[in-house]
Amino acid sequence: MKCRPLPKSVAPVPDELLSGWLSRLAASNHCEVADLLNHIGIDGKYAAALDHDIDMLAADRISAAARIDPAFVQSMTFAAMPEAEMRLTAQVPFQACPNCADGGLELRHWRRAWAFDCQMCGDRLLPKADRQKGAAVSEKLIERARHGAAVLERVAMSGSARQLRRSMRAVTFAMGLKALRGDPFFALQRPKPNIRLFCLAAIASGQSRPLVKAALCSVDIDVYARIALLRAYEKEPRLLAIVDQIAQRMRLRADVSAISSHI
Ligand SMILES: [Zn+2]
Repeated sequence: MKCRPLPKSVAPVPDELLSGWLSRLAASNHCEVADLLNHIGIDGKYAAALDHDIDMLAADRISAAARIDPAFVQSMTFAAMPEAEMRLTAQVPFQACPNCADGGLELRHWRRAWAFDCQMCGDRLLPKADRQKGAAVSEKLIERARHGAAVLERVAMSGSARQLRRSMRAVTFAMGLKALRGDPFFALQRPKPNIRLFCLAAIASGQSRPLVKAALCSVDIDVYARIALLRAYEKEPRLLAIVDQIAQRMRLRADVSAISSHI
C-alpha cells in the first residue's frame, strides 16, 4: 500500500509521545486520530497501543504520511524495557504539565511513575484528575514526594530487584495506612490527588531504617497500621518478625520509663 502524504505535517517536539503527536497531527488535518490511522492502513482502534508496541510497517506508513523519518516515529514510543521499568510506565496518561499540555501535547516522561517535574518547563506535573491544580497539598508532602520520586528513578534505572522490593514494600505500607488495596505499582500512577504523593513520600521515608519506622507505627495500637504492616510484609515473614520484635522492645522500654517516672 502506498500512502499519500497528509496535507499538513506537524513537527514533533523533543520527548513527545507518539499518541499525543498523532492527536496533534490529526487535529491539524481536521480529522480524528482513528480516521487518520484507518486512512493510512493502521487499525485506528489501537492508537494508544502504538506507544508501547509498533511494528516497522506501521512506523513506515506513519512516516510516509507525515513526512518524517521512520526511525523518529519509533523514537517517540517506549521500546522494549525491563519488567520493573515497564510496570512503572503508565499505559494511559495519569499526569500532565499544566504549562505544556495545551494543544494536546503529551511528553513521554510524563508516563513514568517517577516523573515529578516537567523536564520541558520545570513545573510540577499534576494528576489528570486534579482540577484544583494541587492547591490543597502541603509543601512538606510535595518535597518528600519529590525526594521519593528521585529514589524511585534511581531504583528503576539500577535494575536492583532488592531495592525495588524495598520501595514497593514502603508503598504497600503507605497504601495500608490509607486503607487502600491493589497493586502498589498502580498506586503510584493513581490520578487521585495525594495518593501518589503519599506513596512516593513513603519511598523516601523507607530509605533509612524502614523496619524501625514500621515498628514505631505498630507501637501505636492502630488497626490500620497493623493491616498495613501485614500487607507490606506478607511475603517476608522474617522481616515482619523483626518488626514485631523491635516494637515489643519499644513497648517494654516505654513501660520501664513510665514506671521509673513514677518512682
Ligand atoms: Zn512543562
